[in-house]
Amino acid sequence: MTSQGAANTNRREKDAPGIRGITKLALDSGIVSDIVSFKNLSDDKEHIALVFPAENLELTPLVRLHSECLTGDVLGSSHCDCGDQLREAKEQIGAQGGVLLYLRQEGRGIGLYNKLDAYKAQQDHGLDTFAANTHIGFAEDPRSFKVAAEMLKALGIEKIRLLTNNPDKVSDLEMNGIIVEDVISTGRFETEENRRYLQTKSDKGHSL
Ligand SMILES: [Zn+2]
Repeated sequence: MTSQGAANTNRREKDAPGIRGITKLALDSGIVSDIVSFKNLSDDKEHIALVFPAENLELTPLVRLHSECLTGDVLGSSHCDCGDQLREAKEQIGAQGGVLLYLRQEGRGIGLYNKLDAYKAQQDHGLDTFAANTHIGFAEDPRSFKVAAEMLKALGIEKIRLLTNNPDKVSDLEMNGIIVEDVISTGRFETEENRRYLQTKSDKGHSL
């Protein structure tokens, strides 16, 4: 191999997505998971994986792709169902073993401040969650789940059971080389405030 060829190979190897570090994280459920950071992912965000130990190693790992939602996950907002979905995922994956990918794509990838602007557009103009995104100049849902496939492969996982109601997650993962053996629906967490939000997601193809 020429030195030029060797350099190219080295660069390719260096650039492949991989694990950056693994640390133990004790959770409020009493379970200790591994929290994994990554390097060379296709975007520059600090995505993490919580890997829960499995008792039955024959079982295909249960996986959830959760997009960060500061207002729902941390502040307990009832405008969406993210906080409930995150709690459910931690419980189910914690019980069976598997992986929770916590993706840093706040507000379906538009960022926190833009999401707050979209909330304001919903309040001022009566728009739904997707129409509000287009009203402030974004695609309805600009997220890509390619990075999730990269994270799973870095963890050595190529076949999963996916906890989701969102068919886009299934197709994005499959397009990027992950086998989705089974799709398990998440619960429906309805409140007075999020009823329209859930209906809109359902209208857009989520199986709620
Ligand atoms: Zn949310």
